[in-house]
Amino acid sequence: MKGDYDIIVIGAGPAGCCAATLLAQQGHDVLLIEKEKFPRYHVGESLIPETYWPLERLGLIDEMKQSGFVKKYSVQFFNEAGKPSKPFYFHETNPHESAQTWQVTRADFDLMLMNNARRSGCEVVEATEVCDVLMKGEQVLGVVARGADGPPAEIRARVTVDASGMHALLSRKLKIRNPDPRLRKASVYTFYKGAHRDEGEAEGATLIIHSEGRSGWFWYIPLADDMVSVGVVSSPEELFEDGERDRMKILERQIAKCAPIRERVAAAEQTGEIHACTDYSWRSTRVAGDGYVLVGDAFGFLDPVYSSGVFLALKSGEMAADAIHDALAHNDLTAARLGAFGEELYSGMEAFRKIVYAFYTDGFSFGRFLKEYPEYKEHVIDLLVGNVFRPGIMDVFEKMASQIDLPETRTLAETAAGESAQT
Ligand SMILES: Cc1cc2nc3c(=O)[nH]c(=O)nc-3n(C[C@H](O)[C@H](O)[C@H](O)COP(=O)(O)OP(=O)(O)OC[C@H]3O[C@@H](n4cnc5c(N)ncnc54)[C@H](O)[C@@H]3O)c2cc1C
Repeated sequence: MKGDYDIIVIGAGPAGCCAATLLAQQGHDVLLIEKEKFPRYHVGESLIPETYWPLERLGLIDEMKQSGFVKKYSVQFFNEAGKPSKPFYFHETNPHESAQTWQVTRADFDLMLMNNARRSGCEVVEATEVCDVLMKGEQVLGVVARGADGPPAEIRARVTVDASGMHALLSRKLKIRNPDPRLRKASVYTFYKGAHRDEGEAEGATLIIHSEGRSGWFWYIPLADDMVSVGVVSSPEELFEDGERDRMKILERQIAKCAPIRERVAAAEQTGEIHACTDYSWRSTRVAGDGYVLVGDAFGFLDPVYSSGVFLALKSGEMAADAIHDALAHNDLTAARLGAFGEELYSGMEAFRKIVYAFYTDGFSFGRFLKEYPEYKEHVIDLLVGNVFRPGIMDVFEKMASQIDLPETRTLAETAAGESAQT
């Protein structure tokens, strides 16, 4: 590591690798600092079709095609009685090859992104933690980083990108982080080997399955090597009732409430660790400040239900890279210039937020909605594939609002003005 760079990126998940790679490809001097040694485990295996475009820009489509990642063509929802909806096949509305996406093992996927960053000219350091950021007034000037051995070192950069995921180093430090009050959820998840797999194109489908009484829902994501990622999402009270901390017991109790999952894992073997997390839905009140930008989960995270996380991480990394390139070219590293992409990113996140709220509204189902408004099928599939930045996508919510209570659409500036950051 040197003492200064054009750009320092904190964290080598999808958001950080994407921003770092695109900036290095444009000739900038980029340092990418990662706390862990890759490959490392990460939750978030299911991609959505719009992920294709940032991956294409990163030059990774051929590598994805040659990988052993399971091909995903559709998503299917099950109600609390275990009744499945018709599968939503993405190619119904999109003839392009991007309609097929992948279910990835994140350790391998993230390593592929990191290797690509290295190949593109980024200096990548692993097993090195950014413990603080250097600030002068409101401006970020770089970071303090500490490797496995050796004292903390100050490293300066013209722009610092926080891509530290849920650690959200900068927004926690600056206290610009707000939890989403309607999405106080928790999750417990693990892998099963030898669980049931559907056949043909349905083999790689993501299944979203409500438990009895809608007390929670499961994801079922088929992966390579006969593995399936299975996780339950509910309120912290439901999952950790009676102060239960034994994650296997929590999972078994929830599986007992969900017949389609019970049947699918009956003959399978649970393997590896059982993970848990809580209170992961939140957002920051700004996307950039003087000398810094927030991307991916470090800016905000909604909810696992539509698998929007990796897509938004890559997309925000791409948008941030373009804004930073422009800011460096104009020698203008102010919040306004670096954050020029904020409103567009936020409008896409707002579209996802509305369908997430719809999902958690008792009585709502896409099937019922489309029975009443069949002309909106393309809109619904657009939302499910992640085509949330296209003009007119918000029209569907005017119709949905006639069936359920949805939040008003707000801009990032309006949200920031209306919310006082809490944590
Ligand atoms: C229960 C659950 C299920 C999910 N399922 C899905 C899914 O199916 N599909 C999907 O698309 N998304 C899913 N997500 C979301 C997805 O995991 C994230 O949105 C995505 O990983 C965000 O990418 P990122 O690059 O912003 O952050 P991350 O992938 O978290 O990467 C951040 C990186 O920063 C590193 N880091 C952190 N702090 C520091 C530091 N101080 N110094 C240096 N490095 C640091 C970390 O080690 C990590 O490698 C899920 C999320 C949850 C909570």
